[in-house]
Amino acid sequence: MAKTRLMSMNEANCLFCKIVSRDITTEFVAETANTLAFWDIAPLAKVHLLIIPKQHHRDVAELAKNAPAILSEVLKTATDLADTFTSGSFKLQFNTGADAGQTVFHAHAHIISDSVKDGS
Ligand code: AMP
Ligand code: ZN
Repeated sequence: MAKTRLMSMNEANCLFCKIVSRDITTEFVAETANTLAFWDIAPLAKVHLLIIPKQHHRDVAELAKNAPAILSEVLKTATDLADTFTSGSFKLQFNTGADAGQTVFHAHAHIISDSVKDGS
């Protein structure tokens, strides 16, 4: 009971859940049944995209454990976008845990690349 309430609180306070619910507006670059993708607000490279599951999971480890099919969909969206926006050279990164630099505790993949696709 208490655990269920705590999870709801986490989701209510989660930045990326607010993006999923459109309480915070951002420019989406892709949407699938279970994922959303948008530009990182503080890009580290010419292409810096975030791909998130619509469901709240605190990090990629929890996502892999509890919803592996959705993790697979996140990876598919991420690699499709890398194909659209990069030459094929990119970093795919999941920061996991505060000590590894995770600041938003809703699982997300970063696509990071300075190798922009010709014409995009
Ligand atoms: P991480 O450090 O792996 O947790 O990544 C969180 C990322 O979210 C950072 O790269 C931030 O720049 C990015 N970010 C934070 N707020 C927003 C926002 N409103 N829209 C887009 N990206 C955001
Ligand atoms: Zn969330």
